[in-house]
Amino acid sequence: MSKKGLDYIIEYKAFEQGTYEIDYQLDKNFFELFPESEFKDGDVSVKVIMQVSIAGLSFDFDISGSVKTECDRCLEIFDQGIEGFYNLTVKFSDTQTDSGDDDIIFLPTEETEIDLKHHIYEYVVLSVPPRRVHPEDEDGNLTCNPEMVKALEEFQPTEQEEETEPQTDPRWDKLKGLL
Ligand SMILES: [Zn+2]
Repeated sequence: MSKKGLDYIIEYKAFEQGTYEIDYQLDKNFFELFPESEFKDGDVSVKVIMQVSIAGLSFDFDISGSVKTECDRCLEIFDQGIEGFYNLTVKFSDTQTDSGDDDIIFLPTEETEIDLKHHIYEYVVLSVPPRRVHPEDEDGNLTCNPEMVKALEEFQPTEQEEETEPQTDPRWDKLKGLL
């Protein structure tokens, strides 16, 4: 099953027990649903395996693709590759609401549908590595914009300069030599 556009609502009551695959292709339109998002654009495929049983629902989310983000090194926008695998279990209960576990949610028994978009968004964000830099080329060099890197290095003191130990007093060194 391939869902198009903004259709992230699954009317699970309409499904018989079994396993179903739902494929999403996320782009700019998806990220626009989350105005607070740090990421505004991307190209991400999400393969969802939904298992429907008497006990409840189980969703596997297989995420791969890229999001547009700023490079930590040269500040240019680039496509950061992402990959991740997540599971969400849905149980039905009219008394419990909080499982204390992000991977397990409760829905009231009269509920008939679940909106996956917030879950998908959360998993995409979790798949983005904390350090984002341009990938390396075949020679192992970062593919950053060299002019930007140069300009930034000139503008900011390098880490090395900041960390340099204060010079020791040469007179003290001389004294140590005498001892
Ligand atoms: Zn870069």
